[in-house]
Amino acid sequence: MYDVLIIGAGVIGASVARAISKYDLKVIVVDKHSDVCEGTSKANSGIVHSGYDAKPGTLKAKFNLIGNKMMGEFCQRYRVPFRRNGSLVLAFDVNEIPKLEALKTQGTLNGVEGLEVLSKEQVLAMEPNLSSQVAAALYAPTGGIVDPFELTISQAEVANQNGVEFQFNSLVSSIVKQTSHFQVFVNDTMIESKTVINCAGVFSDEINNQLSAHKLKITPRKGEYCLFDKEVGHFVDRTIFQLPTAYGKGVLVTPTAENNLLIGPTAYDIDDKYDNSTTAEGIKEVLSKASQSVKSIPTSFIITAFSGLRATETSGDFIIGEAKDVEGFYNAAGIESPGLTAAPAIGDYLADLVTKKLNAKMKTSYIDGRADLVRFEPLSVADKSKLIESNHEFGKIICRCEMVTLAEIKDAIHRPVGATTIDGVKRRTRAGAGRCQGGFCGPKVLEILSKELHKDPREIAKFDQQAILLVGFDKENL
Ligand SMILES: Cc1cc2nc3c(=O)[nH]c(=O)nc-3n(C[C@H](O)[C@H](O)[C@H](O)COP(=O)(O)OP(=O)(O)OC[C@H]3O[C@@H](n4cnc5c(N)ncnc54)[C@H](O)[C@@H]3O)c2cc1C
Repeated sequence: MYDVLIIGAGVIGASVARAISKYDLKVIVVDKHSDVCEGTSKANSGIVHSGYDAKPGTLKAKFNLIGNKMMGEFCQRYRVPFRRNGSLVLAFDVNEIPKLEALKTQGTLNGVEGLEVLSKEQVLAMEPNLSSQVAAALYAPTGGIVDPFELTISQAEVANQNGVEFQFNSLVSSIVKQTSHFQVFVNDTMIESKTVINCAGVFSDEINNQLSAHKLKITPRKGEYCLFDKEVGHFVDRTIFQLPTAYGKGVLVTPTAENNLLIGPTAYDIDDKYDNSTTAEGIKEVLSKASQSVKSIPTSFIITAFSGLRATETSGDFIIGEAKDVEGFYNAAGIESPGLTAAPAIGDYLADLVTKKLNAKMKTSYIDGRADLVRFEPLSVADKSKLIESNHEFGKIICRCEMVTLAEIKDAIHRPVGATTIDGVKRRTRAGAGRCQGGFCGPKVLEILSKELHKDPREIAKFDQQAILLVGFDKENL
């Protein structure tokens, strides 16, 4: 019998798992995908929002603010790329300046510090690539950018090294409440747990609705993006927003925490919770909208496109806490933006509720940090040489675009909750995340995974079990 079963290994499930792993409890995370960070947490803007956009008094506003304040120290401790680069919301007409003032007032009410409405001249001096049509902007110095993969993976690692089990390729099909525990049906097996925490992203309504009479409805709201090569990662320094609309924060132009340039997203409600496609129209739309904000978008540096699904709940707010009518069942549902920003704070909050309910004691052996992590590319030549002397596998570059070494890829495979797929290696090391998008290093990564995991190369997938790349050997039957 588990004390806690967490459904979903996205940034929310991982945050809850990390926070709960401080306690002496038997905890398991189950996810239908083959790795952590395979849902919305892998496909978003990676912005740490300052918090002016959420309506005062909402859970979005509350957790956005706490998450934003936590992020600097948190990312340092868990080795997550993060930069407080600040953000600008642009107005293109003097008539829109009152809207910037209203956002500033709302932000100040939410507790956001340092908000300032800047003149056209001030803004253009800060960001020379902005369109000359800009009339003014709201500056939020506390805005930031974070690597969403590492924010998720790091917390899963911490949870796992403190005893939390992770079970992948495991679809929760149904849950039955017994008097003092839950029976959770996962693939063909049944797992029993005293409490269940629903962190199932766009599917969190379906999990909730199996148990609670208070029904939720999540409509996936799709967002498409273009990602640009690092060569143009300094095109803008701050995150550039337009005025928000009923459908969200609009199309942004931003550097990423890994120094790429990102433009997007679109915002369309769709029916299909599995639709992660990108479309020519979507890409055209983000480029067209972004060209209102900045001049001369360097389109020849686009390296890929992707899309993500926002878990938009009818109430418009996050649903967080114990279901009123199902004791021991907790929701983190409808966690759309600013969910990434809020995740560590949501994790702490839910862990506090659940551990109080279970009367849990803190572990004496909790390790609050990750096992050693080496990134080769940013080191000085002298440090690179020293590293290669200590381990010659740091001298074998596998991904030339991002300068990722064999030693780093092996480490990513053997770390807690290690990579088992090509995308898993990419998200942990950036091998395949560069200009060639894995065109050159992909087959090498496949070979390394096959060797390190002692698996036939035909079993190594790009992601999940169905995305197999090799169907056979060309000389197999000779
Ligand atoms: C376009 C876009 C832009 C965004 N930009 C930002 C931003 O800049 N800043 C910000 O703060 N937030 C942003 N967000 C929001 C943020 O990405 C999300 O709030 C966050 O990633 C949600 O994490 P999650 O763990 O709830 O969901 P997910 O990452 O989707 O994880 C849910 C997990 O549950 C698993 N699961 C579901 N059903 C089952 C089942 N039945 N059995 C087993 N497993 C199951 C899934 O496989 C998945 O891995 C954005 C979102 C989108 C879509």
